[in-house]
Amino acid sequence: MSQQKKKVIFSAMQVTGRLHLGNLEGALRNWVRLQDDYELYAGIVDLHSLTTSYEDTGEILENVRQAAVDYLAAGLDPEQTAIVVQSWVPAHCELHALLSMITPVGWLERVPTYKEKREQLHIASPSYGLLGYPVLMAADILVYRGEVVPVGRDQEPHLELTREIARRFNHLYGQTFPEPQSLLTEFAVLPGLDGRKMSKSYGNCIYLSDSPDEVREKVRTMFTDPKKIRKADPGHPDECPVYAYHVAYAPESAEETKRACEAGELGCVAHKKDLGDILTEALTPLWERREALIADPGYVDGVLQKGAQRACEKTDETMELVWRAMKLR
Ligand code: ADP
Repeated sequence: MSQQKKKVIFSAMQVTGRLHLGNLEGALRNWVRLQDDYELYAGIVDLHSLTTSYEDTGEILENVRQAAVDYLAAGLDPEQTAIVVQSWVPAHCELHALLSMITPVGWLERVPTYKEKREQLHIASPSYGLLGYPVLMAADILVYRGEVVPVGRDQEPHLELTREIARRFNHLYGQTFPEPQSLLTEFAVLPGLDGRKMSKSYGNCIYLSDSPDEVREKVRTMFTDPKKIRKADPGHPDECPVYAYHVAYAPESAEETKRACEAGELGCVAHKKDLGDILTEALTPLWERREALIADPGYVDGVLQKGAQRACEKTDETMELVWRAMKLR
């Protein structure tokens, strides 16, 4: 496929913390698969991190660098894919300001994650930026005239809002933006150490920057089936995160493991030790690439500068169309 004909994707992760295995399996690996067939902009959306972490901003820049290392270590090819730090590309903010003028507050107040975040993080007085998070996300996608967005089922409502904002702009000022279509990606949600979904906000993560020893230690403390107290007790693998990881990382031996656990032949301590080995083996190539990248910060900076330059070329084109459509140029 020639570069011109490839459809545009902007997809991103925020950097309130380090990236974890859930981010790797649920997002990064998918981008790596998509990068040959799409014009992919892989965002590191640092401004989004400010919606909840505006007081303590000291770690964001280091998280940005670490995310860039993770993106590259997971296999994004900077010759094909632009790795884009959001705040380095001013058009994200410009379009956000313009879209915020045409987005009714009622639309934003109805977004389920707004309410969830307020409750989860105990935010008594939410900022204008937190409410406007989906508008910034719409700007992120539309400023590339993104046509396709890879989403999990839970992210569909956000994308619908992006489409509504695009439609409203097109209706007011003339056809400017494509309505981005979702590329529904089915993947298993990876559980965290405590059995809930692995998430930065739960502090139950295995981070891509963890050392092999840290990973083994975390696996050792992992939650298992509470009904299996001794090795001989019959286990319930489908309720056990250790088994979920086993299925994800060593599917070939999963069936036999399930049988042995249910039959009381395999104890949790031994299973966790196996899983430590399995994960270490599976992650070693990524760890080796990470180490090489960390030793070469000049290369990583160069990738980000080149990514920002490519992004600016694309987004400047879009902004020219936008200003003209709004008769401000
Ligand atoms: P977090 O919950 O840690 O804040 P994000 O919401 O920033 O993670 O997610 C970034 C990307 O990683 C999204 O595409 C999301 O679907 C994916 N992702 C996050 N957690 C998991 C998980 N536990 N399993 C699979 N994918 C995940």
